[in-house]
Amino acid sequence: MVESVPISNGHDILIRGGLVVSGKRTQKLDVAIKGEKIAAIETHPSELRASREIDGSGYFVLPGIIDAHNHPINLDKMDTFTLSSAFGGVTTVIPFMQNMRSRGIEGTTSETIENFIEESSDISYLDFGVHAILFGDDDVTTEVPKLIDMGVISFKMYMTYPKRGMMMPDERMLEAMSIASSMGGLAMVHAENGYCIDYLTEAFIEAGKTGREYYAKSQPRILEVEAANRAATYATVTDCPLYVVHLSAREVLAVIDRYKAEGLSIFGETCPQYLDLTNQMVLDHGALAKIGPPLRSSEDNEAMWGGIKSGVVDTVASDFCGFNKSQKYSGGRSTGTIRELDDIDDHSSIFDASFGGNWTEQMLPVVYEEGVNKGRITVNKLVEVMCENPAKIFGIYPRKGTISVGSDADIVLFDPTIQHTLSADLQHCEADFTMFEGKEILGKPVFSMQRGNVVIEDGKIHTKQGSAVYLAGDVNLTASAPNGHKIV
Ligand SMILES: [Zn+2]
Repeated sequence: MVESVPISNGHDILIRGGLVVSGKRTQKLDVAIKGEKIAAIETHPSELRASREIDGSGYFVLPGIIDAHNHPINLDKMDTFTLSSAFGGVTTVIPFMQNMRSRGIEGTTSETIENFIEESSDISYLDFGVHAILFGDDDVTTEVPKLIDMGVISFKMYMTYPKRGMMMPDERMLEAMSIASSMGGLAMVHAENGYCIDYLTEAFIEAGKTGREYYAKSQPRILEVEAANRAATYATVTDCPLYVVHLSAREVLAVIDRYKAEGLSIFGETCPQYLDLTNQMVLDHGALAKIGPPLRSSEDNEAMWGGIKSGVVDTVASDFCGFNKSQKYSGGRSTGTIRELDDIDDHSSIFDASFGGNWTEQMLPVVYEEGVNKGRITVNKLVEVMCENPAKIFGIYPRKGTISVGSDADIVLFDPTIQHTLSADLQHCEADFTMFEGKEILGKPVFSMQRGNVVIEDGKIHTKQGSAVYLAGDVNLTASAPNGHKIV
């Protein structure tokens, strides 16, 4: 591939001789940046020149990682969440935002998101899009069109947590899907059967079985399979593209595969925790490892890798949700009651603990170590599921997700020879623990830039809050649009 603009001189930055990775190939190329964009790409060695030249030899040159699933609304908000993400080689995030009436903050979803975009533009370190979460009390007939006009084109609905007031009733989900699909938007679901989870949870609590060993049993895998199948059925009926978040149970892959084969625009996402951690973490660490869907078994981890390899799983994202240990144990949000660590745990019900984990910074190293180093996937596949596919699905490709002429200069240099150990002491979010504590990794992102500006270099953040831009999703570019960027 040789692409260039007429002037090879006069570039601002040149990354010379790195191994540039796309979903399809790895090539030794020179990449020149002018202003915010990638201006020229030529086979190395080239005649390209720039005022700053970076020796890329020995590095993988990756498109900036996109974290398309995260919840920066608790202890870590868009400031520390994006800071932590940046150190993990992420350059674009797509957080979920919802109406905050359950937290006593008035306003519709679109109003809340408008405020969120304004506030994030001031405090985020990284460019960001937004997904909306729709609850049963949202007026979807007015909110969905308003949000799509704002560039919020993806709508997540919970099929679980009815007792927590989060579940979207099925008839409202159909309504939201139908409106979203008519405007080119897409639905996202947390696929677990909430009635069954509530039934089982109550039965365990009533029987006094509230220890950590009952958590996984209260949310069995069949509930994920049932809900994914139901959501895909509704998506078929309403002709709505569907993105199923955080796949965890191995049997659910057959559901995604079947609907893909039937022609539905259905996309599957998994997360580093479902690729590398098991329910043993819950048995060992209790509340700290409580997430929904629950961590499962090593057979499920292997199946998820298989799904990535075969193309049933389209993306990997973090599902970041920053809580400190006390908040996890007490079930409290950042404003909630915090109990002493010593009180907790053995005496507390696992069912009272908060859901969520904080793994955005560890995501790329873990996927690289477990995927590429262990021979389960290629580095090209990593780029496909962590850069290209999320950008295509959410309507921001080719601006993001690829190293191509004309794209934003969002680039990561990844050194595959650095041996390091993951630890909460080294992470940059407020959350004070990691479930990847002590994990040995070979390979680390050492440099990144966003729109031509250095983000991470020499172990430090160089970009300033307030320089990030909001990325409106474009319904005409999505992988599900008739002429959109297809996933191959
Ligand atoms: Zn989530």
